[in-house]
Amino acid sequence: MDSTDYLKSHIRTVPDWPAPGVQFRDITPLLQDPRVFRVLIDTFVHRYMEPSLRPTVVAGLDARGFIIGSVVAYELGLGFVPIRKKGKLPFTTVEETYELEYGSATVELHTDAVKPGDRVLLIDDLIATGGTMMAGARLLEKLGAEVMEGAAIVDLPELGGSERLRASGLPLFTLVNFS
Ligand code: 5GP
Repeated sequence: MDSTDYLKSHIRTVPDWPAPGVQFRDITPLLQDPRVFRVLIDTFVHRYMEPSLRPTVVAGLDARGFIIGSVVAYELGLGFVPIRKKGKLPFTTVEETYELEYGSATVELHTDAVKPGDRVLLIDDLIATGGTMMAGARLLEKLGAEVMEGAAIVDLPELGGSERLRASGLPLFTLVNFS
């Protein structure tokens, strides 16, 4: 079994959660098994150790992006910055609001989290419509940083998010697709 199939076999699909008709892709089994967790993290770390792809900082999206992003940052010897849902960060922030299927959401970033010249790796667990990652990228760009790549464990290509993100100019790296 190659590493993509190995990782995919440890993602659990939960039907009708959090709402009827939704197939939720649950990544917690990947984290729970130490061997699988290591393969997952090492896959990201090996990619971003490559000199041409080396970021200067890792940003993670609330909340599962924190789990992956902080460990990847640690292994790369880099700092980690959290992009949080509105109302959680104590210092001055920049914010970005984006549309959800029903309503909208706002994410925030501390104004001193990144600086012009930073090359940021932006990490989340999953890309669906791409709205969350797009909002995160905009926040980092508001502070003058360059988002060198967005990375996620799972892409749901049928929802069009990864295509939209790539079309906006953001390079993307994902490990597993579900269609
Ligand atoms: P998007 O903004 O791309 O539509 O949705 C992606 C965001 O919603 C990510 O932050 C992700 O954590 C969460 N999300 C949406 N659907 C799923 C899912 O099926 N599984 C997981 N693990 N996260 C999801």
